[in-house]
Amino acid sequence: MAYEKFWANKSEKLNKDEHLKLRKDGLDILNDIDRFAKEGFDSIPKEEWSLFKWAGLYLQKPKEDGYFMMRVNIPSGFITNEQAEVIAGIGRDYGRDVIDITTRQAIQYHWLRIEELPDIFNRLDRVGLSSVGACGDIPRTIMGNPLAGVDPNELYDTREIVEDVYRFFQRNPDFSNLPRKYKMSISSNIHNAGHDRINCVAFTPAVKEMDGKEVIGFHVKVGGGLSAKPYLAQELDVFVEPQRLKEVAIAITTIYRDFGYREKRHRARLKFLIADWGVEKFKEKLFEYTGDLPSKGIDKTEKWNGGFFYGVQPQKQEGLNYVGFNVPVGRMSSDEWFDLARIAREYGNGEIRTCNSQNLIIPNVPNEKTEALLAEPLFERIKLEPKNFIGYAVSCTGIEYCNLALVETKERMRRVAEYLDEHISIDVPVRIHMIGCPNACGQRQIADIGFQGVKMKTKDKRMVEAFEFYVGGTLEKDVAQFNEKLKGKVEAEELAPALAAFLRYFEENKEPNEFFFDF
Ligand code: SF4
Repeated sequence: MAYEKFWANKSEKLNKDEHLKLRKDGLDILNDIDRFAKEGFDSIPKEEWSLFKWAGLYLQKPKEDGYFMMRVNIPSGFITNEQAEVIAGIGRDYGRDVIDITTRQAIQYHWLRIEELPDIFNRLDRVGLSSVGACGDIPRTIMGNPLAGVDPNELYDTREIVEDVYRFFQRNPDFSNLPRKYKMSISSNIHNAGHDRINCVAFTPAVKEMDGKEVIGFHVKVGGGLSAKPYLAQELDVFVEPQRLKEVAIAITTIYRDFGYREKRHRARLKFLIADWGVEKFKEKLFEYTGDLPSKGIDKTEKWNGGFFYGVQPQKQEGLNYVGFNVPVGRMSSDEWFDLARIAREYGNGEIRTCNSQNLIIPNVPNEKTEALLAEPLFERIKLEPKNFIGYAVSCTGIEYCNLALVETKERMRRVAEYLDEHISIDVPVRIHMIGCPNACGQRQIADIGFQGVKMKTKDKRMVEAFEFYVGGTLEKDVAQFNEKLKGKVEAEELAPALAAFLRYFEENKEPNEFFFDF
């Protein structure tokens, strides 16, 4: 196989997924989908089910029923009006009307059947969208600043760079067999819109004096990631000019491909290689590919905003605004997406942006049109100024569709947040994230309050859904940390009142405008 030449440690024993990838490259599944679509779900060899991830597809729970979940890449969250209509149409025609926004700004469908995939791929293709590489051991969609190009708080418009890096890695057979998933973030937003420290590699805003001039560029962090053993990414002592970012991204990915671990799957992420090597050794290796890079300049990151951009806010372009809305736990219907596309076209320039907080932005709305836009009925549910719990609640997919889930999450998170909004009045938002297993798709570790689903035996020996309770996570500059587990577990049915009691203490004892993290 062509890619056998890549990895460096040939004496390493390979895990079973590696053996499968040697027999068939993940991207090759794309050549078979038309045939499987004609011959039906039963014609797919069971051992090849996992290769569908490279096409952005997972089998839903229970796998034998043959329904797929599909993730569509939305690099840095940029969607055109035409693309939004296609997203809505697929949800209506094939996805039982459920369209989710993920914590990596992607779009997620459920209930798709193999027979429907060729038409879905064609529709996505026609408008330049793709699900390829949205899952699997391959560079995933690039997370970034949803406001790029319109952001008064960005140093550099990252739209072209994101597109260029994304296109380079899309369907690139040289990078389709990485040791495991690989997540990149590129953002020049000073409020850390790209969630730098939880990505395998993150480019963040910086400046450096070079030849007597101040140059805008990027700093680089490597080795972040969540799941059961989370790591915060560490900074490399390098400064990257915008024109060299792609080269550096390719070099880091190449090092991971060739030196990342392939023996134990749970140790195969870049974070474990960085933890073992340290950033100095990694930097030396990087320079073997790129030549020397300048040392760090000045970090331009300021206070972290958690990825939330609510309200009507002025853009860097005079007279234009971006308008940010809360989509409760990221879930919308097809009709809402059609409506959103129309509204973005009528009041803005047709663009829509997705946020890693599972929310939405409509940019490029002229001053004189904002009032009429806000009177649209859609925004009675998808609110401009959400309450302090539902507006900051994030949830993974959970047991409804996910094979790995131990508990129900999405609807539960919504109900709990609404309950808190009814019972607790507080003058600051509290970020609550809920996940259904340790894989952390809902980024539990960075939340003010995180809930992780488990099964628990009650005193009367019933097995019930329950949650571990974590507090104090943040990606705030200089004090970034993962939240810590509190003792015990909370039975799912008790979650809302237990949390309300906990938050009532915060409500009664906090200073005005004091945030949960500072309490
Ligand atoms: Fe599934 Fe676990 Fe991810 Fe939730 S965190 S979507 S339960 S894998």
